[in-house]
Amino acid sequence: MPEKTEIKRDMMKRIPLPERDAAIRRTDFSEVALNYTREEMLLEAERCLHCPTAPCSKGCPVGIDIPGFIGKLAADDAKGAYEIIRSANALPAVTSRVCPQECQCEGKCVRGKKGEALAIGRLERYAADHGAPAEVAPLTAPADAPKVAVIGSGPAGLTCAAELAEKGCAVTVFEALHRAGGVLAYGIPSFRLPKEVTEKEIAAVEARGVDIQTNVVIGRSITVAELLEEEGYQAVFLGSGAGLPRFAGIPGENLPQVCSANEFLTRVNLMHARSGGETPLYLGKKVAVVGAGNVAMDAARCAVRLGAEEVMVVYRRGAEEVPARAEEVHHAKQEGVVFHLQSAPQEILADENGAVAGIKCLHTEPAESDGGRRAYVPVEGSEFVIDCDMVIVAIGTTPNPLIPATTPGLATNRGCIVTGGEAGDTSLPGVFAGGDAVSGAATVILAMGAGKNAANAIWEYLQNKEHIR
Ligand code: FAD
Ligand code: SF4
Repeated sequence: MPEKTEIKRDMMKRIPLPERDAAIRRTDFSEVALNYTREEMLLEAERCLHCPTAPCSKGCPVGIDIPGFIGKLAADDAKGAYEIIRSANALPAVTSRVCPQECQCEGKCVRGKKGEALAIGRLERYAADHGAPAEVAPLTAPADAPKVAVIGSGPAGLTCAAELAEKGCAVTVFEALHRAGGVLAYGIPSFRLPKEVTEKEIAAVEARGVDIQTNVVIGRSITVAELLEEEGYQAVFLGSGAGLPRFAGIPGENLPQVCSANEFLTRVNLMHARSGGETPLYLGKKVAVVGAGNVAMDAARCAVRLGAEEVMVVYRRGAEEVPARAEEVHHAKQEGVVFHLQSAPQEILADENGAVAGIKCLHTEPAESDGGRRAYVPVEGSEFVIDCDMVIVAIGTTPNPLIPATTPGLATNRGCIVTGGEAGDTSLPGVFAGGDAVSGAATVILAMGAGKNAANAIWEYLQNKEHIR
């Protein structure tokens, strides 16, 4: 049994979340958020009320038994806690670091009604970092196992592959990039999600017998139809994400010092620009990031770490509408990122040499909501200029059109693959899809949930031998 603590404390308040000092961390890419110590973990786990209806679990898109794992932690059993989490979630060390817990499990925590919600994310991280087995027992698919191809190695593809391998399928993941992980590898920087954490989770998926083939672009190297008709795959899962950046369509966006956040982050995170890699990267002294989601925060905080003197976030809505996780906004501000809210970019200005010299904006004000997020409209005559010499555009992404364009009969709607529902069945027999490729840019845990549901549906499909070619 864990020793009882003598520390007197307010049970309404969570144990503060430890993090590295902002002045130091803004100069490196090491992880910002630190793990609880054992003593801190025990104190925080003690706060759980073990509510019989577990509203926290209902707020979790993959339905983790949250009071169950917290109970194990309170008994100092990190391994038991990990096993509970792992039974519902294939990538606990990842989700504990990147999930927007404040609007999922923690947002539903009963403790949060009168005080501070349990720090469920940080407790999950403790279980993942301390309770995961050093090695995963290897699995090998039987010789007559059905062959399934998974396209894309992001959270949707990895989850689908791991689930199918556990059910006894021979799974091959085809990944266009040279490294597996999807956004976890090329998008989210290591100060939020250390690369070794992602690599360990991927190794655990491979240990289940999943074969991951990188540098294979489906639609170019081979098509979906060829996988099914010539390569002997009996089902295909499309988890190709939403990696195509959107631009605002304003004048000046084609200036050389303007890039998408996806390009910027890929060069920094995947290609190691300015930290040993050969990929070139332009970095301004005054960098303006347009948008305020997680992608924008990541780009802004990378620019800080690479040495930009001034980094700004420019967003047309107000503070309440900022879509990034609260923790990322807090960390960005601590690291010196300046927020220009209610500022709608109209034009990117150039100097006499054709280089970025600023962003012309209009102030905005709240307007009638159209049912979704509160709308903001530009205020006539409120024009002003934000001084900058680089612009990073982070206003969203859509699915890459390559797979739909090379897969006749695959139904899409506004670029997203259309599915029949949670099972992820598409307009083509034997072809399933999930994650950002279906929903548009969303979250890691939703992509994982979609990968899991599709794996169940694929398994059911494979049991019905009439379908099998
Ligand atoms: P992806 O992760 O995009 O993976 C798709 C994979 O498919 C990629 O590796 C791609 O190379 C591959 N692929 C594409 N086309 C082909 C092809 N033709 N052939 C072979 N392979 C192909 N979510 C959160 O929950 N929390 C966060 O903090 C968070 N931060 C984010 C930060 C950034 C910078 C970005 C970009 C996204 C962030 N998200 C966050 C969103 C989250 O990462 C995505 O919702 C999630 O990764 C979607 O998973 P996926 O598997 O559907 O797609
Ligand atoms: Fe514990 Fe909060 Fe879940 Fe209740 S809602 S069981 S207090 S984590």
